[in-house]
Amino acid sequence: MKHKRPILGIDLGTTHSAVAYLGASGHVTFVPNTDGELLTPSCILFDDRGEVTVGKRALDAYVETPSHVSQAFKRHMGASRWSFAAGGKTFGPVELSAILLRHLTEGARRIVGDIGGAVISVPAYFGDRERTATLEAARVAELDVVDLINEPTAAALASAFDAYLEAGGEPSDLSKLAVASTAPAINVVCDLGGGTFDVTAIRIEGEKFDILGTGGERLGGRDFDDCIVDLLTRHLFDCNGPDPHYDLHAKARMRVAAEKAKHTLSIKLETDVDASHPEIKPMRLTRKAFEEASDSLLARAKGIVEDLMRDIDLSWHRVEDLLLVGGASRMPMFRGMMAGVSGKIPNTRLQPDLIVAQGAAVYGAVLGVRKIASRKMAKADLDNVDEPFTLADGDDLSTLEELAAASGSNADETMFDSSFVAAANNVKLTDVTSQSLGAIVRSPKEYRKVNSIIVPRNTPLPARRSKIFGTKRNGQRRVCIPITEGDSRDANSCVEIGRCVIDALPPNLPKGTPVRVTFQYDRAGIVRVEAEDMTTHTRAVTVVERYAQKTSSNLTELAQAVSKLSLV
Ligand code: AMP
Repeated sequence: MKHKRPILGIDLGTTHSAVAYLGASGHVTFVPNTDGELLTPSCILFDDRGEVTVGKRALDAYVETPSHVSQAFKRHMGASRWSFAAGGKTFGPVELSAILLRHLTEGARRIVGDIGGAVISVPAYFGDRERTATLEAARVAELDVVDLINEPTAAALASAFDAYLEAGGEPSDLSKLAVASTAPAINVVCDLGGGTFDVTAIRIEGEKFDILGTGGERLGGRDFDDCIVDLLTRHLFDCNGPDPHYDLHAKARMRVAAEKAKHTLSIKLETDVDASHPEIKPMRLTRKAFEEASDSLLARAKGIVEDLMRDIDLSWHRVEDLLLVGGASRMPMFRGMMAGVSGKIPNTRLQPDLIVAQGAAVYGAVLGVRKIASRKMAKADLDNVDEPFTLADGDDLSTLEELAAASGSNADETMFDSSFVAAANNVKLTDVTSQSLGAIVRSPKEYRKVNSIIVPRNTPLPARRSKIFGTKRNGQRRVCIPITEGDSRDANSCVEIGRCVIDALPPNLPKGTPVRVTFQYDRAGIVRVEAEDMTTHTRAVTVVERYAQKTSSNLTELAQAVSKLSLV
């Protein structure tokens, strides 16, 4: 019997998370949580007994015990200094995400059995630190991550797959993905989630998905909640109520009331917002007043969309489909703004808060099929070895046999039929750099250190770009090039992701000796930086793995700590 282990698609959201996988029928199946719901609040409750509760019960506990509940920790991914304190311990964003991942995957295992790993979605604008932190969280949760996928890319993949099914396609035959759009189509995906806003333009031609460009910021539904909280605070003052600023419980109640009101205002023109204080009357809030209060947020979202269209020189008339995803995209003001800016009727056909998990699941299935195909190739290579004994001393035949047995194990059998397997091998996803990469150099004109961009944002991958700089002084023997991520010319506003050092330059080189710095950035996110002194051709190479897995014992310790937590 074939052993079929689905690869989960996990949307690890700021406010909610969702898990899905592609079943043998070729349809996406969502994994419900223990409450029977498809969306799990990304909330963690640490109670006084040392128990850790994830999901709805944690969210419900927020009003009564706000200091015990952590939420929106995704917004701090990659930040080294942020932590949440509970029960005398502190938890960083990696540990919190690991706890959430463990909860989600344990729930999925109870329903689908053994799993073959997961694809986790991340905002497209996430840089190196945030992506690394996400992978670290998975390691701490002892979850095998097959790949990360950018959230808008996942949404576009889900939408293309769904359009194909809608057009009457066979779910198992991915190769007909092009049916829904016979000609190449450019789609724009705007993803307004709980904490992040991402815009991505994607060109789809059959099974080929080329990302044309991406942009985004930490801007999401929670910022709109904050606007209502501000209005409510003013209302409390107007009614001579207490100052809620120092009252954690009042603030928690206000936040919950604000989010509820925001949801209501997506379908009604006005609502009453509970003032979170028994003696103060509720605040009447109209949709118009809410929209006025949050117009700067909407303007920011509009700016991000317009910047991207300008950066990649794309005009709306070339765009076939405008896909709005993310729970907060339900707000009429957002839909109206997007319709206005694009002149298009937005596509809201798919569930905006589930579509990302759906796409991650499709991608997981595709990668799963490929992983098996490549292992089978490795096994075939092994079968073709004429002289398996011609190995170095110490190796013996049993090692090879074990290897062969492992690569042919049942766990590697795919659950999909041959047409899906063939098509999955054809799916091509070309991505772009979501952040600019550069080097910190001294600018003689500006008398300061600046970030000189070498690979601009939205460069298709793989990319190779060079720039020539000059040495700073006569007789310089050493060049140290800090490698950065970020768009700003201001060196301090960028994130340093590595260094490239040449420390054996020959003596007596004059000031201004040219040094060529070349960045090579492959599809897997690995950045190779080469610095070459062009007079003597002395070279230095640094490999910066964007998704570098830190092999620190710290992660192992964290994994042990998280696995010991009593998770409910
Ligand atoms: P997501 O991360 O995609 O699940 O999006 C979560 C965000 O969507 C949260 O800020 C929710 O408050 C927001 N959201 C969900 N439903 C609605 C709605 N009907 N109207 C406005 N915002 C919503």
